[in-house]
Amino acid sequence: MKESVFSAIALYVQSVFRGAWSIAGSCKTALPYLIRWGDLKKEVTEGYPDPISSKTADDLPTRSRGLLFNDIDRCTGCRECETACPSRCIRVESEPGSDQAKVWVSVFDIDFSRCIFCGLCVEACQPGSLVHTKQYEGAAYAVPDLVASFGRGQITEEHRNKWAMMRKLGESDGVAP
Ligand code: SF4
Ligand code: SF4
Repeated sequence: MKESVFSAIALYVQSVFRGAWSIAGSCKTALPYLIRWGDLKKEVTEGYPDPISSKTADDLPTRSRGLLFNDIDRCTGCRECETACPSRCIRVESEPGSDQAKVWVSVFDIDFSRCIFCGLCVEACQPGSLVHTKQYEGAAYAVPDLVASFGRGQITEEHRNKWAMMRKLGESDGVAP
């Protein structure tokens, strides 16, 4: 009986000692930051937006995958990106353009509320028009505002007239009048 009391007390003291040792260990790490001792005057937690270091998107690593951008002048409307996207967040609609060889990409929408930034669409884009930017601040108040549109818009009568005139003149650039 006496032995079990002693072993219980020993276990208790051992636990208290371990707890105190653990607290001392964490204080050894935290206290120098708290009192900003020596080299530890640096920031540990950064505010947002960061008022001290003023970090920008350019400070991100080279291969960062930020919001997507499509250079519609280079986009051929091939839909490879749409097919490659596992989240089904790209919508492409196209129509015949100023001549048979050219496609008019009227709708090119990316729904960032579904995008997982996997980069598969960018890899699938042969012309290289679709790229990741380093822009990461894409928050919006409403989900529909998370859709980015890069399309040229529906073909108008004005476009058709301009193309007809260009065909007559024997030139065609496929861009909006
Ligand atoms: S990054 Fe991935 S999820 Fe986002 S649009 Fe491209 S393929 Fe789809
Ligand atoms: S962004 Fe690239 S892959 Fe997608 S439709 Fe345009 S050219 Fe094709």
